[in-house]
Amino acid sequence: MKSPIPDYLTRVLENARPFDAGEPACYIDVLAKADTTRMAVALATVDGSVYSVGDDNIEFSMQSISKPFVYALAIQDQGLAKVLEKVGVEPSGDAFNRLSLEAGTNRPMNPMINAGAVATHALVNSPDGTVEGRVNRILDMMSRLAGRQLHVDEEVYEAEFKDANRNMGLAYMLKAAGMITCDPQEAVKGYVKQCSVNVNVRDLAMMAATLANGGVHPVSGERIIPQDSVRQVLSVLTTCGMYNSSGDWISNVGIPAKSGVSGGIIGALPGQLGLAVFSPRLDERGNSVRGVAMCKQLSHDMGFHMMDVSQIGRATVRSWTATIAGGTKQSKGCQQEIAIFELRGAVRFSGAERLTRAIIKEIRPPSEKRDGTDVHPHFCAVLFSFRNTYSVNDVARRLIHENIRRLASTTNVVVVDPNNVLKMSEEPETGPNPVHVVKTEAEARNYIGGIGCQVVSRGDTL
Ligand code: GLU
Repeated sequence: MKSPIPDYLTRVLENARPFDAGEPACYIDVLAKADTTRMAVALATVDGSVYSVGDDNIEFSMQSISKPFVYALAIQDQGLAKVLEKVGVEPSGDAFNRLSLEAGTNRPMNPMINAGAVATHALVNSPDGTVEGRVNRILDMMSRLAGRQLHVDEEVYEAEFKDANRNMGLAYMLKAAGMITCDPQEAVKGYVKQCSVNVNVRDLAMMAATLANGGVHPVSGERIIPQDSVRQVLSVLTTCGMYNSSGDWISNVGIPAKSGVSGGIIGALPGQLGLAVFSPRLDERGNSVRGVAMCKQLSHDMGFHMMDVSQIGRATVRSWTATIAGGTKQSKGCQQEIAIFELRGAVRFSGAERLTRAIIKEIRPPSEKRDGTDVHPHFCAVLFSFRNTYSVNDVARRLIHENIRRLASTTNVVVVDPNNVLKMSEEPETGPNPVHVVKTEAEARNYIGGIGCQVVSRGDTL
């Protein structure tokens, strides 16, 4: 069967083709003479599938799309606190090349406008490093993100650097304000080189998908950007990524994004996918006209708006009871019943809280036996299955451990956790009944009922 996704993307592309407003960036000749018939769109999932249609192998310079990735590098090289001393995180509402600094701090408002991007560039490697060193580090990171060796387009670089008066003005302003320590010309040189790195939409979609995947490359599995830098980058993209139409963009499209003056836009939808579009005609704010149209349609059709919250927590927990029959072990004091709890997907607080409620509902408080010990009226064991759990975050793990610890004080607890998402071995043993961790349901069954036993499921109870 042929996947319907490329056919859908072709429809998105063709729907945007009739939009012929706007002009390509005209401040340098190489961009002004761009072929305005070129259009492309690509999607890359966080598990590494890439779909693309249109002129998906046509290369163009990254321009401002380079800014979020270089911001991530600066954070990695200097630490977030140092970067925040030099570059703020407030949306400016001004044009991208405005000569302005934040009142009081003298910092550029954010790293996505040119003043902030030049200051950010100067923080890569070390503030006293060379242009070559910074550019090589940036190219190396971009290439690993794209999954192929990328290059600086020297024609674009020469043309931009020849006429970089405005950016030069910004760099001198930054130097005077103490926000960069290197030679302003060198900072602009490196910044213009980072803007001149050539890519196609497939490269960009994969780069964005790495951001969407918490900094881990979807295909190579390499961690390229630390998790906390990803959070910082995506936050800034949410408020400042689309020049001075960022508010309109985030309410309409709802995807952290960055555009560049050569007509590209990337979007990184956390946990799901990266997308990239290309078409050189720009609107008055510097965003690709057809690119914005394609992103709007994709977001609306596919439910990509990040604020469209579905009740993810509800889908994560299933619980049911079963009876153990046969087998070599006969448990005393219970009716051979077990309670089973299964968690699916990526478990965070809401999933773990739902599990907690399911446990409380299912497992009634123990009643006291005549000898003073507690006993659950029905269950000879409680089984947790994490076989289909993709991940458990820290708070969810702590809550589940605590639930298990409390249960284990009065009953037998068996945990099926083949991928060790729960890291039970890191939990000190407590209570009279040690928690038994196994890799398969069969091992759990044999442990509870003895070899040869069968489990007769009684259906869902939630
Ligand atoms: N190289 C361009 C400049 O600094 C990039 C601007 C952009 O893409 O917004 O003017």
